[in-house]
Amino acid sequence: MSTGVTEKTQTTIGGIRRKFAPWTDPAAVPLIRYENVSKRFGEFVAVDNLSLDIYEREFFALLGPSGCGKTTLMRMLAGFEDPTEGRITLAGQDLVGMPPYKRQTNMMFQSYALFPHMSVWENIAFGLKQDRMEKGAIDARVDEMLKLVKLEKFAKRKPHQLSGGQRQRVALARSLAKAPKVLLLDEPLGALDKKLREETQFELMDLQMKLGMTFLIVTHDQEEAMTVADRIAVMNHGKLVQVAPPAVIYEQPNSRYVADFVGDVNILEAKIEAVAPGNVSLYTSVGGGAKLSIAQNVEAKVGDSAFVAIRPEKVRVDLEPPAWQEANCLRGEVWDIGYLGDLSIYHVELEGGVRIKAAKPNLTRMVERPITWEDKVWVSWLPDSGVVLTS
Ligand code: ATP
Repeated sequence: MSTGVTEKTQTTIGGIRRKFAPWTDPAAVPLIRYENVSKRFGEFVAVDNLSLDIYEREFFALLGPSGCGKTTLMRMLAGFEDPTEGRITLAGQDLVGMPPYKRQTNMMFQSYALFPHMSVWENIAFGLKQDRMEKGAIDARVDEMLKLVKLEKFAKRKPHQLSGGQRQRVALARSLAKAPKVLLLDEPLGALDKKLREETQFELMDLQMKLGMTFLIVTHDQEEAMTVADRIAVMNHGKLVQVAPPAVIYEQPNSRYVADFVGDVNILEAKIEAVAPGNVSLYTSVGGGAKLSIAQNVEAKVGDSAFVAIRPEKVRVDLEPPAWQEANCLRGEVWDIGYLGDLSIYHVELEGGVRIKAAKPNLTRMVERPITWEDKVWVSWLPDSGVVLTS
């Protein structure tokens, strides 16, 4: 039950976790294994023959649209649902059929499910009393948890006397009190406003690293998943579409679905014209036709249809055609400009009506922009800025 500092903390530099990638080590043994797991509710398939490994001390996020099976996947690990088929193991132990209270998992619900008539202290102590822990040990553990979530001064208050953020921390302390091996977080920050949510994301990461625990989080919020997680699984219709670290999910999505689901993206239809090691040449008929060149290894044939995905922040907008490259340049007209404070989003309409979004940081305080509505412009991007998607 100690809250000792772990190796993962030592590999943290400036808040960025480094060298923590057990999934790349063939000798690493996963802590949690889903093996060909399916869950059906009647005829409906909520989780479809899914296999997934999660490693000790990982902060793992499940991301996907509503109804894709995220919560069901988590509830099967917690023991609130049984798989229809397949096996789930935790530290080598088969979990199927084991009741929730016997598992080394604890789930924190979105609603927090705090007991309204109990104080903060009693809420946190509840599970420990049920486990018949000795009184002195309960006192010490609850104090430790209160300190961990910075609520020492609130021990005597009831949940209704707390702010949303404080209630969230009580729920977190309560689920950590029994020192589970794995903490399951179902939309843990859903009830908080944006600013508090962002602050709490960093607190969660900090806590997870301090405790050296494995966290599995379900979220709708892609930015949240990108911020907190070591790896993200993007789900669709009960299947995993891509499982990778956040930067890989964002920069190298494996499909249109992932590119579109995570972050904002421009997607152009194109045909492959030439394939060379590390480079693909394509032609798009969008915008009156243009050559595209993407620095990427792709398994495809000349003549195949593909999509080129480019993030708005990687698209340049210029009044003159950029002299520095032949491919990846399209002509258009500024159709709209969205001012977001830190960025302006240029919506450029190409010939034929397709629109491309380009995000430009607002580097100065100038209110007048050099490029404005209805200007004839060129949009362009570098060969290593786009991604070719064949599915
Ligand atoms: P959300 O983000 O909206 O919470 P989710 O990805 O977590 O969605 P799940 O709660 O896992 O989705 O549900 C997956 C699918 O299974 C949904 O279509 C849901 O209606 C269905 N489902 C979940 N629980 C049951 C149940 N007990 N009986 C019947 N269908 C269920």
